[in-house]
Order: sequence, then C-alpha cells, then structure tokens
Amino acid sequence: MIAILIGAPGAGKGTQAKLLETNYGLQQLATGDMLREAIRSGSPLGERVKSIMSAGGLVPDEIVIQLIEQRLSTGAAGYVLDGFPRTPAQAEALEQFLAKRGEAVSAVIALDVPESYIVERVTGRFSCTSCGAGYHRVHRPTAIDGVCDQCGGKDFVVRPDDQQEVVEKRLAVYADQTAALLPFYKQRGLLSRIDGTGTVETVASRLAAVLKLTNQEKVSA
Ligand code: AMP
Repeated sequence: MIAILIGAPGAGKGTQAKLLETNYGLQQLATGDMLREAIRSGSPLGERVKSIMSAGGLVPDEIVIQLIEQRLSTGAAGYVLDGFPRTPAQAEALEQFLAKRGEAVSAVIALDVPESYIVERVTGRFSCTSCGAGYHRVHRPTAIDGVCDQCGGKDFVVRPDDQQEVVEKRLAVYADQTAALLPFYKQRGLLSRIDGTGTVETVASRLAAVLKLTNQEKVSA
C-alpha cells in the first residue's frame, strides 16, 4: 500500500503518519523530516535548502523527488507519504516512478482543517531535541512540565518555520501549489477527504476507516 496524506501545514499529517507507522506498519516517508535532518547534519543538501525552508518556500522538485525515490526502494510492505508530493510536477514524477516498477498510489487522503485553526495549531508546536517526540503547548503538553514523556529529555525545539509570518507564507504556498493536487488525484479516483479537526485519536480512526485498516492486521504490499 502506498498512501499519501495531503493537508495544509498544521493539518496533522506528521502526527497521523507516525500513528499509521506505529499501528499498521506503514513506513512514514516525510520529506520535511529528511530535509531537516540534512540541515542538522550540515550536509551540502542541508546548506542548499536551509534558507528556502526557513522562509517557508518549497525546495526544488528534483531534490525531493530524488529523496523519495531513494526511500521508496527500501522494500517496506507499505508507505505513508507525508508532505510529498506538494506540486503537480512531484505527483507526476511519483506516478511515473511507480509505474516503472508496476506499482501505483493506493489512496490519497486530504486532511481538512479550517485555516482559522492552523496558525494556532502550528505556532504552539515544539518537539524533544533527543527523540523528536512532538507536543503542543495547549493541545498536547508534556505530562511533567519541561520533561519529554517518551525519553525524559529536557531540551525542546521549535521549528524556525513555525513562526507566525512563516506559517502564513507556507499557507499561501499550499493554496498556490499544493491544493492543485486535490483535483489531480480526484480525477484518478484516489482522493478521500476527511475532517482533520478533533482529537488525534478521532482523526486517526477516521483515517483508518478510509484506508480500511483494522488493529488486527499489519499492512502487506
Ligand atoms: P513539512 O515538515 O512537511 O511541513 O515541510 C517543511 C518544509 O520542508 C516545507 O515548508 C518546505 O520548505 C520543505 N519541503 C518538505 N517537503 C517538500 C516537498 N515535497 N516539496 C518541496 N519542499 C518541501
């Protein structure tokens, strides 16, 4: 299974993709995480994309297409793509890449969250520097103030592109370039839209229902 999650920044793609990985064995492929890792490691790729990302722009298509093609070749039973594709050119490249291997996208789920929720959701996010666990100041605080629930770490980080002005730019980029993917996948009969508001668990069960996943089964190819 190759599932794609589409949604504006803050729609919950990353949270839901991680849950699909944990609960159903789909491998999460998040281009944003791969690019942030490249920046952290100080690689030439990281140097190239750093200023684009902190300004809320899109990294050139050929870079992310290559990242995804490398990871899709790892032989996992199924994948959930989080943050890719983000432009029609990326969607077409993915389609062609999969077709060469006799594969195709199985399902595309758009997480619908009204714009009025987004800035509040995104600007409250922070994550643990050691293990990467994600939190929100209001909606998902740590159980003990200043201590990571998962690893006990005490250092947290806020993404530089989660500042309000940058979030507004990212929303504009989403409307300009990524929203065009909805008609693209609708035309192919692959698109489902789900309500992305509500608790993490509520959204996760809507998503599992659309993907026809049950807790008893792990996904096979
Ligand atoms: P995300 O973590 O998905 O919100 O992505 C963070 C940032 O990484 C985006 O604002 C872009 O600058 C860059 N990025 C991630 N995925 C892509 C993609 N598929 N195409 C272009 N840029 C991307």
